[in-house]
Amino acid sequence: MKTLFLSIFLTLTLTLNLFLTGCGSSQEILNLRTAKDIVQDYYESGKYDKELEEIYAEAKSKIDKVSLKQNSAAIFDVDDTALSNYEISKRLDFGYDYKIIQDWVMSGKLPAIKQTKQFYDYLKSKGLKIIFLTGRQQEEYDITYQNLIAQGYTSFDTLIVRTESERKIGAGQFKSSKRKELTEKGYEIIICIGDQWTDFEGDNTGIKVKIPNYLYEIK
Ligand SMILES: [Mg+2]
Repeated sequence: MKTLFLSIFLTLTLTLNLFLTGCGSSQEILNLRTAKDIVQDYYESGKYDKELEEIYAEAKSKIDKVSLKQNSAAIFDVDDTALSNYEISKRLDFGYDYKIIQDWVMSGKLPAIKQTKQFYDYLKSKGLKIIFLTGRQQEEYDITYQNLIAQGYTSFDTLIVRTESERKIGAGQFKSSKRKELTEKGYEIIICIGDQWTDFEGDNTGIKVKIPNYLYEIK
């Protein structure tokens, strides 16, 4: 989680980029307050929910065309894929405070993103093995496990976090090496769900399901 939020260049870099791009050659700079209001509106007006529903509907139609095997597996990211950090981000006015965010993570009270939970249920009903793969650290393993269970992700094969020696590996590289290991163990990864492009770097992803995140970007 440290890595996650330290990489947050942030909340606002992405937001500003979006709006600067949108403004064309005039390069009109959006007021930070306005940018934050637009992001808040996106999450709270139903636009985020609608986009998630469309993305998961498309993912379902793709999965339905795959012939599944006993070792077919789905990889889910945790932060802002299975569980939401929107509440704390908003409480910090879409800023960053390491201690507050760490306390939030360690509270184990992150809510599920309901469309992801529904998609998880769907994949379970199809018999897929579920693996949670997160850039969170070893000391966050227990609380992450408990948080997932408390939010209804009650059945999965494994939860993978960074070990001490993996602490400094880039997010994309870490996840891709773990997917390689899982493949070598016999899983056939047929779908990968995440909110960051680093969730899909490298091989062994299967179908890539990228859900939106306008709060931060992990490079
Ligand atoms: Mg994430």
